[in-house]
Amino acid sequence: MTVNHFSTIAAVATPPGKGGVAVIRISGTEAVNVAGRVFFPQSGKVLCEIRPRTQVFGNIIYNGEIIDDGLATVFSAPHSYTGENVVEISCHGGILVTATVLEAVLSSGAVPADAGEFTRRAFINGKLSLTSAEAIGNLIEAQSREQIRLNSIKSRNALSENIAHISDTLTSVLGDIYARIDYPDEELGDYTEEDARRVLCDAKENISALLKTYGTGKAISEGIETVICGKPNVGKSTLYNLLVGKDAAIVTDIKGTTRDILTEKLPLGRVMLRLSDTAGVRDSGEDVIEKIGIDRSLEKIRTSELILAVFDISNPLDKEDEKILKVIHECGGAKLAILNKVDTGKRSIKNFPKEMFLDVIELSAKEDDRSAVLKLSSVIDKHFTNENIVTGEDAVISSARQNASLKEALEYINSAIGGIDIGISLDAVSSDIERAVGAVSRLSGKSVSEEVVADIFSRFCVGK
Ligand code: GDP
Repeated sequence: MTVNHFSTIAAVATPPGKGGVAVIRISGTEAVNVAGRVFFPQSGKVLCEIRPRTQVFGNIIYNGEIIDDGLATVFSAPHSYTGENVVEISCHGGILVTATVLEAVLSSGAVPADAGEFTRRAFINGKLSLTSAEAIGNLIEAQSREQIRLNSIKSRNALSENIAHISDTLTSVLGDIYARIDYPDEELGDYTEEDARRVLCDAKENISALLKTYGTGKAISEGIETVICGKPNVGKSTLYNLLVGKDAAIVTDIKGTTRDILTEKLPLGRVMLRLSDTAGVRDSGEDVIEKIGIDRSLEKIRTSELILAVFDISNPLDKEDEKILKVIHECGGAKLAILNKVDTGKRSIKNFPKEMFLDVIELSAKEDDRSAVLKLSSVIDKHFTNENIVTGEDAVISSARQNASLKEALEYINSAIGGIDIGISLDAVSSDIERAVGAVSRLSGKSVSEEVVADIFSRFCVGK
């Protein structure tokens, strides 16, 4: 059965598996009636008589048989997560018990919810902006404390309010311009080009400030594309395993062991790294498979945002190291040098080209060198995040979609300001302002295509 926005939907809101409690969530106009056919309060009352937002204990009955006992909470529209009538039934968290309670609810008139359907309805019913819905999705997927902060209620509300303020500012300029065009003879006050310009500059400043948060938001959320590179046997895989915290990469002293690119997403300080270990870059001779690995490594090095270049401090730099230095010199990513194997006590590298790197860190990847990892983390944090941004408090954008919409809005505002500056009439620049409002509306979700909404909610799980 297909779900439309008027049907009453139901799903298990807790993860599949055994647990203390499972929650079955029902949302829609008929939610209380549907749940009332299944859940019977022990007080003898019926569910529709229960005061909203109080929990009642009762029996869950399917085909005349008590399946379980549990708690039910009724939320009346619009004071619920979805903005519709919602009932949540908590039962014992057994796999079959939970499935049977859901079956009972579905046979009483609800239809199965799609992935993200509850949050999608919250968005459609105006309970959430699109950026807040995205943040809730990210919160569920969070892999670090910093990601939890970034998507916390304070942070997501700050972003929604910021965007709403920008939208109101731009709409007010349009309103004033339209009023002047539509009622030229009325006494509407003297709304001048200078007035419009000032308000547009205000919006521009707010958008620019938000755009500046993207680097930090992206580093915390999506992570920094990072590659470990170096000639064979300098300790790349050992460093990879040290950072990832497990033996993901094979460590041997046989050259050419790592042939494919291994990638892991891991938290390091405030940020996430999308960390790749690569095949050592060297002349592979006749070995075709190793050559393919090396070509892939070179491509990865060229496209990464952060390059961790590893050298063996116990030996002088040789031709292969020089080749690595030459390759990475031509790459756009930020570069950090790791001089590995300090535990050997030999410091044989002379005249290291420090100027090419954000920093040079000496460590022993073999010895779980935590203070060196902390230093590495702080150098990366400093380069990729803005320490003045308080995650968990400030409005921060973190997705390419949000960044693209704001950039588009900024372009149109710049065009409108430029138009005013060369004497184009407010009437003529209003189309640029309309387009800027359009871009901001797509960001907040006020006016956004079905495809974008479908794409965002498809990433949610069923029951959310
Ligand atoms: P890769 O080819 O660059 O990935 O190098 P590996 O991580 O496979 O290491 C090559 C060899 O160097 C192995 O025998 C490691 O045990 C050794 N090795 C790696 N890191 C260190 C280190 O910090 N100190 C010492 N002494 N040996 C290391």
